[in-house]
Amino acid sequence: MTAIDKQVRLQAAQMLELMYAARGVGLAGNQVAWPYQLFVMNPKADPAQKEHEHVLINPVIVERRGSVEGEEGCLSFPGLYQRVRRAKWVKVQAYNTEGQLVEYLTNQLPAEVSELTTRILQHEIDHLEGILFIDKLGPVARLAARTKVKDFEREFRRAQERGEIPPDAELEKQLAGGAVEL
Ligand code: ZN
Repeated sequence: MTAIDKQVRLQAAQMLELMYAARGVGLAGNQVAWPYQLFVMNPKADPAQKEHEHVLINPVIVERRGSVEGEEGCLSFPGLYQRVRRAKWVKVQAYNTEGQLVEYLTNQLPAEVSELTTRILQHEIDHLEGILFIDKLGPVARLAARTKVKDFEREFRRAQERGEIPPDAELEKQLAGGAVEL
């Protein structure tokens, strides 16, 4: 990403809208066909709990420790859950929408969000690198699941057309009025 500008903030806001609408906890740019190294997350899946809402730009895992298996789903594959092995905690560096470098050290987060946040960070950074959690499935199941990715992108565009996700102009108004916190 060359610049963290208004366009990037608008897109992040749209991604958060979609994520909450789908009751997800994380969503990566390339899941909605936006070619940005960016993802949004809220381990509480609750738009009212803004303190748990994060936008990570150009995120990098700089440290990972331990190993733990847990169940994972993905907005690109509704209804599909799979046990996935991940690091037990990670240290991630990323830029926020203000262009400031932010560090996430997940073993220092409050217990209620630390485990899920660790999983979200790894899952979403995988997305940005083109790795899907289904890549951890066998080859046949993986092939079947991959066709669902395009369906999800198409569904997102349709939801936008139906007005279920605010169009850019509306979000711009909300941002100007301070209605959307970023
Ligand atoms: Zn996913």
